[in-house]
Amino acid sequence: PVDGGPVRFAVLGLGWFAPDVAIPAIEASDYCETTVVVSGGREKAERVADEKGVAHALTYDDYADGEASDAYDAVYVCTPNALHLPHVETAAELGKDVLCEKPLEANGERARKCVEACEDGGVELMTAYRMHTTRSIRWVRDVVQDGAIGDPVHTRGAFSYNLIAAGESMDQWRLNPDLAGGGPLMDLGVYPLNTSRFVLDADPEAVHATTVEGPPEFDGLEKYVAFTMEFPDGAVAECDSGYQVAGDNYFEVGGTHGRIRVDVPFNVDADRTITVSTGGEEQTVTVEEPSEMVEEFDYFATGLLTDMAIGPDGQHGYEDMRIADAIYESGESGGRIEL
Ligand code: NDP
Repeated sequence: PVDGGPVRFAVLGLGWFAPDVAIPAIEASDYCETTVVVSGGREKAERVADEKGVAHALTYDDYADGEASDAYDAVYVCTPNALHLPHVETAAELGKDVLCEKPLEANGERARKCVEACEDGGVELMTAYRMHTTRSIRWVRDVVQDGAIGDPVHTRGAFSYNLIAAGESMDQWRLNPDLAGGGPLMDLGVYPLNTSRFVLDADPEAVHATTVEGPPEFDGLEKYVAFTMEFPDGAVAECDSGYQVAGDNYFEVGGTHGRIRVDVPFNVDADRTITVSTGGEEQTVTVEEPSEMVEEFDYFATGLLTDMAIGPDGQHGYEDMRIADAIYESGESGGRIEL
């Protein structure tokens, strides 16, 4: 554990999410502080450090060389998916605990290497799934586990975004197979996938998927994926995700005695509406949400400061990548894949 706190973070990858969402969340947290920012460009690192009042600005090479390593206790990795592993490996070698953005890496094998590196280095590895610290989803999980809708029969979930309609550039890492590891499944589909596992508190035994290849600019990546996951007690998750579908964003659990639906669960800090249907009656519950990224950083830091077990850990994030690999395999073969 880190003595006393606050936990001092090196933040890697100064694109959208780290400077706009994560660093402000660290600033608003009780137990965390940003002391180092790391970027591909020295000038960019210095500019962001200046803007955010951060003491140290490093390049990835400086970071890999262990520069300023006395100035931070933990690392927050927010680079493209296939660039998580090298930074996680460096952190593990330097003895720094890691909060790594989702998906843990670009495929199962690379995600497993992240887990192994952190085990070898004796450091914590948490996969940054916001849904585990989002109050509404935690509430749904608790009431489902308490039997509020009877035995869960299925989950349904979708998270999609039409990046072409939004006018986004086709020249971006999310459409580069080498950096993203996959299309919308890796970026968005992992949310209903992981939330199904979290809410059911179980891991699937088999998957079946349909993938639809995107236009040439997608470089062989899917533009749409629909998949089912079979859980050991018979529950089934039905999920889909696309880069050319406008705004699907919901999660639902159906059970033997009712159904719970959450609208707009997956956007960061969105207003969420929960509809509970049991015994022929429908009730709408609004859960007042604190900022989930603040919760996530404080949760991770509390784990480091107290030696409490931290989850979702690296193994949990690896499991998603193993499932994603099987989804792609099923999309290619058309067959059901046992995990
Ligand atoms: P952006 O494209 O906005 O930023 C990525 C940054 O990574 C770049 O700005 C760049 O920063 C750095 N980078 C390093 N090498 C490369 C490269 N070869 N090509 C492109 N960028 C590179 O991505 P996001 O911030 O949206 O996503 C980063 C990670 O965070 C991803 O793993 C993503 O899945 C995850 N994410 C999680 C979210 C959540 O809600 N939990 C939300 C959004 C993203 P620099 O110039 O400083 O090196």
